[in-house]
Amino acid sequence: MKKKLLAAAVAVCAVVLAVVIGADFLFSKETNEVLLSMNTTVSLDITGYKPEQTAKEIKEEIMRLDTELLSRTSASSELYALNNGKAQVSDELATLLAELKQIEIDSDGAFCVALGALSDLWGINTDNPKVPTQAEIDAVLKNTKDWSIDGNTVYIPKGVKLDMGAVGKGYACDSMMGIIYGLNHIKTVAAVGGSVLVYSSEPKETFRLGIRDPLGQATDYCAILETTGSCVSTSGNYERFFEDEKGNRYHHIFDPSTGYPADSDINSVTVITQYGYISDALSTACFVLGVEKSLPLLEKYNAEAIFITNNNEIISTLSDGDSATLTVTNNNYKLGELR
Ligand code: ADP
Ligand code: MG
Repeated sequence: MKKKLLAAAVAVCAVVLAVVIGADFLFSKETNEVLLSMNTTVSLDITGYKPEQTAKEIKEEIMRLDTELLSRTSASSELYALNNGKAQVSDELATLLAELKQIEIDSDGAFCVALGALSDLWGINTDNPKVPTQAEIDAVLKNTKDWSIDGNTVYIPKGVKLDMGAVGKGYACDSMMGIIYGLNHIKTVAAVGGSVLVYSSEPKETFRLGIRDPLGQATDYCAILETTGSCVSTSGNYERFFEDEKGNRYHHIFDPSTGYPADSDINSVTVITQYGYISDALSTACFVLGVEKSLPLLEKYNAEAIFITNNNEIISTLSDGDSATLTVTNNNYKLGELR
């Protein structure tokens, strides 16, 4: 009898405890899911109450972003309509485009969302990439700076195509954040290609992320970044490229001032900040700008960066008081100083 009473008391206590500290915490589970969207692999690791439900909402949102908003090839997307003559956009796309115009201005044109025709010309992500002629490059670069946005009306000069390749994955991280922020007892590591969102409802919880070795294989890393909740995006010259018959390598991040793959002093740059679209856009911009010219831009957007130079130095803007820390784990690299 005493045993039964004790068992009942324990059960009551468990229920009370569950109510007090949150039932979702007691019934916390983990889910890992992978899907293909936005021309890349999306992986979701979610721990929390009913994580499958959260993952389902996130997957639906990512599909929406791809097929209804940002895709350049899907005929149902707003961007597709915009590139094919429509001038009015939704509030969501208008807000994003206005922010991107500002990043274009702040980066001195290093980030430019209007390089769609240039990407098509090089065809780096296709089966038939080629080095275009100077005349072809001049023709597609002619009006890229002239696209503009006023309220919900977008002006795109003839021949110019907008392309969200450098920012869509980071923007998807922001949309995911909109779904998980405010949920109790949740922890998420979500990667959309090279943009990663790490978030925990425990603000002090830290995550360890490997920074890819630009000279190694896809799973090799050369440093570990330890950070609390944030968005982390990497742009590198190893991601998508082709080689011509002479062995020259042409990658997919273009310098809008030349129309050629950016030839700065780095092989990759990782940008850490609170907003995914900013970390993604800035990683592309900083790749074009190189270490020194990136610093004012990073400061303006309150972002930190880790550059891996083409002489194997890892240069970080992180300093002692920051919540993120960096540890070099590969002896082929050494920590360099900001000049
Ligand atoms: P990834 O797509 O590998 O994550 P990025 O975020 O750096 O890498 O984006 C590169 C893509 O962005 C290219 O494939 C192209 O579509 C587009 N792009 C290339 N150069 C620029 C640039 N200077 N500014 C904006 N978009 C660019
Ligand atoms: Mg980017």
